[in-house]
Formats: sequence, C-alpha cells, structure tokens
Amino acid sequence: PLSQLKDPSLLKTDALVNGTWVTGAGRFDVLDPATGQKLADVANLGALDAEAAIAAANAAWPAWRSKTAKERSIILRKWFDLLMANQDDLGRIMTAEQGKPLPEAKGEVAYAASFVEWFAEEAKRVNGETLPQFDNNRRLLVLRQPIGVCAAITPWNFPIAMITRKVAPALAAGCTVVIKPAELTPLTALAAAELAIRAGIPAGVLNMVTADADNSIAVGKVLCASDIVRHISFTGSTEVGRILMAQSAPTVKKMSLELGGNAPFIVFDDADIDSAVEGAFASKYRNAGQTCVCSNRIYVQAGVYDAFVAKFAAKVKTAKVGNGFDDGVNQGPLIEEAALQKVERHVQDALAKGGRLVAGGKRLTGQFFEPTVVADATADMLCAREETFGPFAPVFKFNTEQEAIDAANATEFGLASYFYTRDVGRIWRVSEALEYGMVGANVGILATEHVPFGGVKQSGLGREGSHHGMDDYVEIKYLCIGDI
Ligand code: ADP
Repeated sequence: PLSQLKDPSLLKTDALVNGTWVTGAGRFDVLDPATGQKLADVANLGALDAEAAIAAANAAWPAWRSKTAKERSIILRKWFDLLMANQDDLGRIMTAEQGKPLPEAKGEVAYAASFVEWFAEEAKRVNGETLPQFDNNRRLLVLRQPIGVCAAITPWNFPIAMITRKVAPALAAGCTVVIKPAELTPLTALAAAELAIRAGIPAGVLNMVTADADNSIAVGKVLCASDIVRHISFTGSTEVGRILMAQSAPTVKKMSLELGGNAPFIVFDDADIDSAVEGAFASKYRNAGQTCVCSNRIYVQAGVYDAFVAKFAAKVKTAKVGNGFDDGVNQGPLIEEAALQKVERHVQDALAKGGRLVAGGKRLTGQFFEPTVVADATADMLCAREETFGPFAPVFKFNTEQEAIDAANATEFGLASYFYTRDVGRIWRVSEALEYGMVGANVGILATEHVPFGGVKQSGLGREGSHHGMDDYVEIKYLCIGDI
C-alpha cells in the first residue's frame, strides 16, 4: 500500500533530532494490522538520544520564543497547508500502519491539520493584562510567556491528530517540543515531522524520538526526570498517565493528560430513535471502537428498549469489515492481538452473565472482530466498568432519569458522554448532572478544533483545542512596576 504514495519521500523511518534524521542504534518493525506484513523498520532511540533531543529543544528555544507571534503563525500556517496538500499520502500511511479505513484516515489528517491552522491563528492572541493599581506610583501587569521545552507522548489510535493537538499550541506559544510517538504508528508521525521541516520550523524546535515499547519506557523516564522539560502532554491509558505523573513529581512538571474514558450513551423514551441509532453507531464503531470517546455503555429507557435494540442491531449488521484500503469498508482491523483478546473477554463475560447476543460476537481471521451488540447488559459485567476499546456495544435497560444518571456516573472516568432526548428541560438537567468533561446531546460525534477537549476525574487534566488549549503552554507572570 505504501508503494502508491504520490510523494515517496514522505516515508521517513529515521528519528528527527535537532533537524537531523538519525538512524538509532537499533531498529524496530512497523506492521500492517490488516495483513500482518512488515511495512518498515524505524529508528529505535533510547535514553541518551532523548537527552540529546531535550538539549536540542532547549538550545532552539531562545530563538523560537524571540520570533514575533506573527512569524511563528506564518510558519504554522505553512505546515497546515502542507499537511492538507499531502492529505492523501498521510492518509495512506495511516491506514497502512493503523488500519482505519482510508476515508477515516484522511478525515483524521484534516482534523489534525485543523489544530495547526487554529493555533497558527491563536498564536497572535496570547494577550497579557493590565490591572488597576493599588498605589498610583505603581503599574500592575500580567505577562503570558512560553513555558519552555515541552514533551508529548502520543498514542496509536490517532497517529497524527494527537500530535498536532499538542504540538501546534506549544509551538504557537513559543515553546519547543520533543515528541515520542506511539511505537505502533511512527510512520504517520514522521511524515508530519518531515512536513514541519519543509514548512520552515527550525532545527531543534520540533524533535521526534521514535522508540519501541521497551525504549519508550526509558525515553519516558528521561522526559519526566528532566529539569529542562517543563511540561508533559500525554494521551493514552490512565495506567500510563499515572506512571508519568508519579515520575514527574520530583521535577514538579505541568501536565496535560488525556486518559481513558468509559463513555455512556443514554437513550430516553422521548428520543428520536432513528437519530439515536445513527449517533450510537457513529460513536461506538468509529475507528473500530478504538477511541477514548467511543460509547462504551449504551443505556436505553424501558419504553423504547426493544425498538432501539432491534434497529441498532440491524444497523450494526450493515457494517463492512475489512482492509481499510478496500472500498466501502467502515470497520478496519484492531491494532494488535491484545486488543482482540480484550474485546473477546468482554463479550464472553457479558454472554456468561446473561447478555443476549443480537449482532456479531466473534473474531474473524486475522486481527478483525465482528461489530458486536449484546442486549440485557448488567452492571456486574466487565464492560460496565472497563473501557473495551473495540467494536462491542453492551445495551443496558433503565427506568428513570435518575437511574440513568447514576449508572452513567458510576465510573472513575469522565471524558465523553452522550444522550438523546427531545425534552429541553431534560437536556439541561442531564447535561449538568453528568460528571464528564464533554457532553453530547442528540449527537454521537462532538470533537472539532475550536472546542475544549478533555476529561474530569481519572480521565485527565487540562483541555486541548479551543483557546483554552493554549493555557497549558503558557506561564503567567505578574509584573509590578514601581517608582513611576
Ligand atoms: P494505549 O492505550 O493507547 O495503547 P498506552 O498508554 O499504552 O496507550 O500508550 C500511549 C503512549 O504511551 C505510547 O506512545 C507508548 O509508547 C507510551 N508509553 C507506554 N508506556 C509508557 C511508559 N511507562 N512511559 C512512557 N511512555 C509510555
């Protein structure tokens, strides 16, 4: 699939440190999850390389932060243009290594680029404040300055968007970055880095340290322990987020964390059922269920339960599973064997505890799993507590609004939540009661670049995108001038 790139020079397999491509002491394989075939071997960097990348980012920082906001903005805008001009190639690279269907991959490239565009614009609006003085002989001001060298550790499920959502605001604010992309999807990340160089991002301002699973742990330790790195942004599992927080405690780093979710999707008796079915399908089966905002638990009120289950199961049975390069496929492979095993464990547990299989249910040849729906789900099932991160939808029945809210909130996670109702009072009540960072009422997909994306509880810290997305990369300095 990678032989068909319009620009083969986008296929980089070395890491980027201080503007130079480095081969690393060893290499690691990148596989196509749809076929199991090897796509490339990529530089496997270690702790010493991470130190070098941090030093390069630190050396590049003074010149980058001294540029005017408009100069940085123009360079970022150029990066945006190049990402969009190469949308097809970036999409192909992503489908090859990540598996998501090609139209979805191209959609992610546009989503990723939109953060670069947005923060190129926001770069010009990192405004300070003047405050009323408490003494006429003084003047009081607030400066907003770049925090310094930032590290970004990103996951495989959005190989490019999770990079730009962190890196664009960092660069816009005047920070420099060291990125450790996911070991399963480094090729999309490296192509984005190559385009950053072509856009004129200076050497050392954007560094990309690729590493296999073991070396990622070592690189993560270096990034956390460094005095120079002032901020770590991580998207991934809650478990790894906790490790990074603990490792960052000795250097008191600022952190942005986008961790696991366990999204509820609630359908009330007064909902538009057809719309709810579409929303549930889009939310649940996007990226074959492998996103942190995918619905994990579907709660349906008793009055429409049977109707919803029947229509939803029928819709799910229309899904087309296959290689993401094939026409019409909307369900690609899962990323790795462990992901398949987790889905299988959740489905079998649900069936063993009285669940009723209404669609799918089994593994297919290779790394594919049938889109699955189990009705009559109950709170004692694994899928009620753990994030499945795959194409399995358990459907629970409830009676009252309060019961649905309580069930939805009965989790340590708090990222995305969804509900369907036509009652405007209920929209307010339920939106306010859901303990989640994001609420979708009568929608199943809600992310875009100019809204604050993030979670509460153990789903994370901070917000990405929107004008709030700049805050984590900026320090506030109070300036008091006397003797006027
Ligand atoms: P996922 O749930 O997306 O598989 P992980 O949290 O395991 O997520 O991984 C997300 C990112 O975190 C990847 O880039 C991975 O290499 C990195 N990572 C995993 N474990 C560690 C660790 N102990 N220290 C630093 N980075 C890690």
